[in-house]
Amino acid sequence: MTKSKFWDAIIVGGGVIGSSIAYYMSARGMKVVLIDRDRFGQQASIAAAGMLAAQAEINEAGPFFDLARTSRALFPPLARDLQALTGMDIGFTRKGLLRVGITSADVEALQQTIAFQHSVGEQAEWLSTEQVIQREPEISRELRGAMLVEGDGQVDAPVLSIAYAKAAVALGADIKEFTEVRSLLIEHGRIAGVITSEEVLRSDRVIIASGIWSGALLEQVRLNCPIYPVKGECFSVLTDKPLISSTIFSHGCYLVPKKGGRIIVGATSKLHSYDRKVTLGGISTLLEAAKKLVPSIVNAEWEKAWSGLRPQTLDGLPYLGEHETYKGLYVAAGHYRNGILLSPITGKCVADWAEGKSKKHLSLEPYRIHRHQHISQEKVGFPT
Ligand SMILES: Cc1cc2nc3c(=O)[nH]c(=O)nc-3n(C[C@H](O)[C@H](O)[C@H](O)COP(=O)(O)OP(=O)(O)OC[C@H]3O[C@@H](n4cnc5c(N)ncnc54)[C@H](O)[C@@H]3O)c2cc1C
Repeated sequence: MTKSKFWDAIIVGGGVIGSSIAYYMSARGMKVVLIDRDRFGQQASIAAAGMLAAQAEINEAGPFFDLARTSRALFPPLARDLQALTGMDIGFTRKGLLRVGITSADVEALQQTIAFQHSVGEQAEWLSTEQVIQREPEISRELRGAMLVEGDGQVDAPVLSIAYAKAAVALGADIKEFTEVRSLLIEHGRIAGVITSEEVLRSDRVIIASGIWSGALLEQVRLNCPIYPVKGECFSVLTDKPLISSTIFSHGCYLVPKKGGRIIVGATSKLHSYDRKVTLGGISTLLEAAKKLVPSIVNAEWEKAWSGLRPQTLDGLPYLGEHETYKGLYVAAGHYRNGILLSPITGKCVADWAEGKSKKHLSLEPYRIHRHQHISQEKVGFPT
C-alpha cells in the first residue's frame, strides 16, 4: 500500500541522532516522521555514559573541536526546552571532569593539553595530587595530579534520546516504532520516500540516521559511507552517599557520577563486534581500572551491566550532508564516541539544510558524505 501522506522529511533511525533531527525540524514547523525498527533509543544511544567531553576528548584545534564546542554550548537551553515540552529532566549538569595523570608521560601530555586549551580560550586547570584529593576525597592516592575541565558537563543519555523523540511528537512529529525501512524509494533520479516493512512512505526528503546500519541503506544509491561497530561495555553501581562529584577519566576507564549516588563505569572497546553480550572479561577489566581510580568503589552495590555499538568511521568523523546526485537524501551517522555530545548540532544542521540555510561559522566540509566514495574498502580496510 502506498501511503498518500506527504511529510517534509522521513527520518530513518530513532537513536539520539535521528530523534534530535526530528526535534529540531519539528521545532521549525516541519512535519516529519521518525522511524525505527525497534523501540526508539535502544541501540548505541541507550548505552552511552552521557559525557559532553568536548575538551577532555579532543585536544587539537580544527573543525571537529569547533563542532564539539558549538554543540556543547547548546545543552543549557536544550535542557530547559525539553523539560518544558516533555516534563523530562535530561540530567544536564556541569560538575567538572578530572582527567587523571598516573604516569609521568600522562602528566606531560595533560600539561600540553592544558596549554592547548588556553591557546584557544578554553578553561582547563592543573590540580596537584593534594588538590585532587581535597576535591575528591575517595580518589586514589597513587595519582600524579589531574587536569580539571569545568565546561564538559554530562546528561542522562537514555533520557535525552527519548526526550528528543517525545518533544518532536509534542511539536507535531509522527512516529513509527517496530517499522523497518527496507529500501529507499527513488523516482526519476530523486529521492521520493522509503519502503518499510509495512508500507511505502512518501517524502522528497529522507534522512539516514541509522547508526552502524546506515551503510546498508546507502548502498542502494551507490554511496560508500563505511561505518563499523566498536562495542563498548559498561556497568553501574549504587552508593548510599555519593562517592565522587566530578567525572573521573583515565586510560580506558571513566567513572561518571549520576543522580542518587549512582556511578556509571565505562567503557571497553572491541572493534567489529556486532554482538551486545556483556563479557566477564570486559567487566573485570573495567572493575580493575575503576578500583585504581576510586578504591572504595568495591563497597558499592552492583546495579547492572550493558553494552552498545559505537558507530565508527574510517577517519573518526561523522558523515553529515546531502547526496550529490539524489537531492533530498541526507546522511547523519557515524558519530562514534561523541553522538550524545554532537546530537544538538547535528539536529540543528539538518534543520538548517532543510530550510536552505548553511552554518557560515562552522566548516562542515570534513564531514562530506562522499569523502570515501572512491576508497576501496578492501584496499584501505577497516581498522583492526
Ligand atoms: C558504551 C558507550 C558509551 C558511550 N558514551 C558516550 C558519551 O559519554 N558521550 C557521547 O557523546 N557519546 C557516547 N557514546 C556514543 C553514542 O552513544 C553514539 O555516538 C550515539 O548513540 C549514536 O547515535 P545514533 O542515533 O547514530 O545511533 P543508534 O543509537 O545506534 O541509533 C540508530 C537507530 O537506527 C535504527 N535502525 C537501523 N537500521 C534501521 C532500518 N533499516 N529501519 C529502521 N530503523 C533502523 C536502529 O534500530 C537504532 O535505533 C557512547 C557509546 C557507547 C556504546
